[in-house]
Amino acid sequence: MKLCTNCILPETFPGIRFDDHGVCNHCRREESALQKAPEKKAQYRERLDQLIGSLKGTAPAYDAILAYSGGKDSSYTLKLLQDRYSLRLLAFTFDNHFVTHRSWENIKAICDATGADHIAVRPPWSVMKKLFCLTAGEDIFPAPTLLRASAICTACIGLVKSLVLKTALEMDIPLVAFGWSPGQAPIQSAIMKTNPALVRQNQAPWIKAFPAEISHSLARYFIPERYYELHQDRFPHNIHPLAFFDYDEEEIKRQLEGLGWQAPTDTDTNSTNCLLNAFANQCHIRRHRFHPYVWEIANMVRQGVMGREEGIAKIYTDQSQEMVEYAQKKLGLPQSAQRQD
Ligand SMILES: [Zn+2]
Repeated sequence: MKLCTNCILPETFPGIRFDDHGVCNHCRREESALQKAPEKKAQYRERLDQLIGSLKGTAPAYDAILAYSGGKDSSYTLKLLQDRYSLRLLAFTFDNHFVTHRSWENIKAICDATGADHIAVRPPWSVMKKLFCLTAGEDIFPAPTLLRASAICTACIGLVKSLVLKTALEMDIPLVAFGWSPGQAPIQSAIMKTNPALVRQNQAPWIKAFPAEISHSLARYFIPERYYELHQDRFPHNIHPLAFFDYDEEEIKRQLEGLGWQAPTDTDTNSTNCLLNAFANQCHIRRHRFHPYVWEIANMVRQGVMGREEGIAKIYTDQSQEMVEYAQKKLGLPQSAQRQD
């Protein structure tokens, strides 16, 4: 398969074009922005310092809530917020029933080390199973979303985003933090004040994507309509600091290991917490002919925070069939692996 000679986007990526040097249109478009990146990152660090300076200590219990999977990026975000700002932190984990045992241990270790409180929400298996079986078989979300993540991931992350915001509103927490990697979300959105109109606008198409029966069982995880008025003056800022702080995967792992974090040995190459990810990737690759993480990893290669060879190894490796089968079996779906006896 033909890949961009600069990043690693493949010829199967929708809308991609290559020039005479084999460089893709996304790389060309980003060239000038990348040159200005160090300056921009410094500006964002300063903006975050100011924002936190103005908010810290003003809320009744917590300065920030973090969407916390126990993976390396969100663990490191928690550490960073503690080291740099000494915030009162609440870590929130969405238990999708596929979190590895090791991740729960990591969550405990990092929360203890950073002094964060921890809460988890675990929807019943019947709800999650229906949601994952639906999204395993069908791309229910708008097409642009599926350029950046599989339908299964999009469903899960949508619930995470909604639940952390809902918790922030209910507990009057002024900052909502995410551990997006520098390739996952652009720096332009790395510090953003939310408001009722924006949240309602983002949530509506996402809710609409579900069939009525599932939508009904998920309703309690969405932002209730009355919150838009009730909490209208208290909508938090969203931040994802890894977009503008130094990011080096090996260094991050080294620092976390110093706090008792260990990389799980049972996840795929793109996740350090989720046992559903390999299956989610495989469903996406079969339907779309590109890997759902390729956008994120290509961004990181382009930014120079990940080597091209490493990126290729993460993306252009077959999904572990053992992990795929584990997820299929748990979801009660037919096993897709071809076996010869
Ligand atoms: Zn490229």
